[in-house]
Amino acid sequence: TPKNKVCILGSGNWGSTAARIIGGNVTKLADFDNDVRIWVYEEMVNGRKLTDIINTEHENVKYLPGHRLPENVVAVADAAEAVRDATHIVVVIPHQFIQHLLDTVHGHTAPNARAISLIKGIGISSQGMTTMTQIIHRTLAIPVASLSGANIANEIAEERYCETTIGCADPDEAIVWRSLFNTPYFRVNCVSDVIGVEFCGALKNVVAVGAGFIDGLGLGNNTKAAVIRIGFLEMRRLAMHISGARIQDSTFMESCGIADVITTCYGGRNRRLAEEFVRTGKPMHELERDLLNGQKLQGYLTSGEVHAYIDGCGVADHFPLFTNIYRICYEGAPPASIFEGLNVDFSHD
Ligand code: NAD
Ligand code: 13P
Repeated sequence: TPKNKVCILGSGNWGSTAARIIGGNVTKLADFDNDVRIWVYEEMVNGRKLTDIINTEHENVKYLPGHRLPENVVAVADAAEAVRDATHIVVVIPHQFIQHLLDTVHGHTAPNARAISLIKGIGISSQGMTTMTQIIHRTLAIPVASLSGANIANEIAEERYCETTIGCADPDEAIVWRSLFNTPYFRVNCVSDVIGVEFCGALKNVVAVGAGFIDGLGLGNNTKAAVIRIGFLEMRRLAMHISGARIQDSTFMESCGIADVITTCYGGRNRRLAEEFVRTGKPMHELERDLLNGQKLQGYLTSGEVHAYIDGCGVADHFPLFTNIYRICYEGAPPASIFEGLNVDFSHD
């Protein structure tokens, strides 16, 4: 039988780090081809194509500088070509670009392909809120798993111990996905709750924006802990609301839940730029453009998407923290208004 083959769609900070892990693991897996293709959104870096730099220097000098990529990881600029023959497709791009990418690869995937989403974001459509695995499944009609955790990419590229969560409905497929990602420093735990894992990963980015506001206001640790606690409870309330309580409570105790909220509220990009937002008064998209060198924020966009959903359902007053963060991001509300109406009772959730 032909060997399985991995394709990674996306080569940002996390995509490049995932490529280091997968590129190393496939060489130890007998049923996987050693070649891993990674789709790169092509751009010129210092006068050269980023794909050429990756394929000759074996380093993504723009998005993961200072870390070598395995030589069996081959950069490709054409996404349709990248997915051809791939049995295992890893989707890891900022969520705002997902639909366009899927339209590009649609019709080019192998009949036995399946995917895993490493994206932290949600989508809004006329049917309500959709997760990335739902969007991928709807467009490509293949099985889709999710992976999310307390996973700041730069720390993982340095091979510092951490955990992650894979959500996969099929236990046999979960074992295969785990074998592609698990390493001594990147510990994978599998659960069956695919969308629970995703909701945690997406919604914690909104909490991280709130935590950054607290840092920008200089209010210290107790205040930030309060925002993290309330944010965590609003995450759970919203995920349960959207899914019709189909999410398992235990998912929130996995790395994708509580642990990711903590790490992102202390060490993430969303936190850092929310702090700058308060200090400078500049809009998020401007800070992103000026400070992130091409990397992308998910939190303030997700805040807008969450607001569209809860406002549309008429339940915004059940989510005062999310609502306040939205107003600060988009409506010019003062950062100190983050505390308004936070005395919500979560005891019956
Ligand atoms: P990134 O923010 O580092 O880089 C942005 C990427 O988007 C680059 O590869 C860039 O080439 C690409 N891009 C720019 N314009 C594009 C377009 N029009 N179409 C398609 N691609 C375009 O990316 P990342 O950190 O790998 O983030 C991908 C996902 O992974 C996000 O959802 C993020 O939340 C999640 N994630 C990130 C980390 C992390 O620490 N970086 C950790 C866990 C999860
Ligand atoms: P940021 O996008 O805020 O850097 O968060 C990264 C992350 O998801 C850590 O788990």
